[in-house]
Amino acid sequence: MMRGGWGMRSVGRFGAGLAGSVLAAVAGVSGCQKPDVVRTGAEGSGIAIRYEAPTDTDRDDAAFLRRRKVVEEAASAISALVEVDRRVSVGVVSCGGEGSSYDPELTHVEVCYDEVSETRELFRRAGPGRADDDVAAVMLETLYHEMAHALVDVLELRVRGREEDVADQFAALMLLREGASGEQRLLAAADAWHLSEVANEDADDGPDEHSSDGRRAVNHRCYVYGAASGRHRGLVGADALPAERAKGCAKEWNAVRTWWTTALAPHLRAG
Ligand SMILES: [Zn+2]
Repeated sequence: MMRGGWGMRSVGRFGAGLAGSVLAAVAGVSGCQKPDVVRTGAEGSGIAIRYEAPTDTDRDDAAFLRRRKVVEEAASAISALVEVDRRVSVGVVSCGGEGSSYDPELTHVEVCYDEVSETRELFRRAGPGRADDDVAAVMLETLYHEMAHALVDVLELRVRGREEDVADQFAALMLLREGASGEQRLLAAADAWHLSEVANEDADDGPDEHSSDGRRAVNHRCYVYGAASGRHRGLVGADALPAERAKGCAKEWNAVRTWWTTALAPHLRAG
């Protein structure tokens, strides 16, 4: 089960689980373990990150996420751009394969440790040579996607069309703002979506509010190409980005960037 969706919860590349576990995770804070919290705003606003103790099997993935500071990077990039005047919490947790998600009732993003090794495994099966940077890039794209749901919710952005696509587009926006390095990161995420599609060709996960993984891969490549066609002519081809689609990518990317820029305009930090 790689893809999925469950009610209002929105999940990423690795499937869906039960909303109740979010409540359990939050309730767990009051236990004997001191919560490990990083805040980007004052009390009651901004993004608060909490790492929960990983299960034994997630230990290496947890160490990787902490070392690479992927969650901190997403939170600080968003906080530098947008005034988030409500509290959004991000829990980095062991979630037993259920998939990263956003819970609007709790304004809580949950990021799963095991997506690190699942991503690594996707790349490993495709062949050697993928670096930790690519794994971190995929996790960052996931973070931005889930944070986009949080922003749509707490900033009350009006989304026309499918919010899942709009969330993917926010991930593209945040990465492509970085320029060439962000383009490589978004392409790594596109590759992971593609590999996920290939790995699950025969799986039937039932109805899903997301675009197919293969479509998500092509969308990201289209945005990269639309933003910087000169650097990415090699993307255009039957497999990665069909030529017919590529023709419209500059326009598509421009529309995506304009939508997000306009939606966030009242919430942008001064300067
Ligand atoms: Zn989503």
